[in-house]
Amino acid sequence: MDFNDDVSLDTSQVQDTRGAGGGVGGRVALGGGGLGIVGLVIYFLMSQFGGGLGGAGNLPLTDGGLGDNQAVSNSKISSECRTGRDADTNHDCALVAIINSIQGYWQDEFARSGSTYKVVPTIFFTGNVNTGCGGATADVGPFYCPADERVYIDLSFFDELKQRFGAKGGTFVEAYVLAHEYGHHVQNQLGTSNRVGKESGPTSGSVRLELQADCYAGVWANHATTSPTKGGGPLISDITDDDISRALDAASRIGDDYIQTHLGGGSVDESQFTHGSSAQREKWFTTGYQSGDPTRCNTFDTNNLG
Ligand SMILES: [Zn+2]
Repeated sequence: MDFNDDVSLDTSQVQDTRGAGGGVGGRVALGGGGLGIVGLVIYFLMSQFGGGLGGAGNLPLTDGGLGDNQAVSNSKISSECRTGRDADTNHDCALVAIINSIQGYWQDEFARSGSTYKVVPTIFFTGNVNTGCGGATADVGPFYCPADERVYIDLSFFDELKQRFGAKGGTFVEAYVLAHEYGHHVQNQLGTSNRVGKESGPTSGSVRLELQADCYAGVWANHATTSPTKGGGPLISDITDDDISRALDAASRIGDDYIQTHLGGGSVDESQFTHGSSAQREKWFTTGYQSGDPTRCNTFDTNNLG
């Protein structure tokens, strides 16, 4: 994927809490059995990128010590990330551009239907973070918290996708992850999230919600090179077939069946599905990408999830 050099970036859509004191002491080592859970575990409604990352919908809470690293320091990002040209050479700036593009599309889409999309920031954090949904460690992977309407990501997740999940990775894979999380923000605004409890299973509300978020990510990708952003024109100039195939490769490695088989107990237990199978995640991203139509993401009204 490529960026339009002269379109301005809006760094207010990112809040950078990395390196703002606190430190990374709360980081739980990944890999050694993975899925480590520290401290008290409670359930609350939040939407992770992958169901098996931190336990099925359970958010590890660290008991104390949070809050120290909450200070937002955007000075580095705002000085380095001015236009799409910076996104070509600086990873942080690329993520800013992607977030601007995703929200630019949804602002446009909501406006077309006579409503207003609420622009919300993504929080970059390292190790652990305090959120409106409670404290979280990086173990849970990227997530959206409906209580404070923010997307949270420890960017080391992108390395984990490659190293632990074996995904090819790439900038567009990161765009898919972020677009999925903003898909949950769209669902929150539309009231869709309220239809879903904490059930699991192959046709559960959780799975339908997650597959719809994948579909919304695909819808954004369809419009990415044409949707205006706050900085003027579209920030993304090109998405290639290779980008799409990398997104599908990532989707194929974060399905519940793949995670259960390769990173969990080794066998598939559909009753524990919260995000859908790899094939379903690929299917719904593709549905969104090919149609560019969010009304086609009707995962709640179909008997055929794939
Ligand atoms: Zn999700």
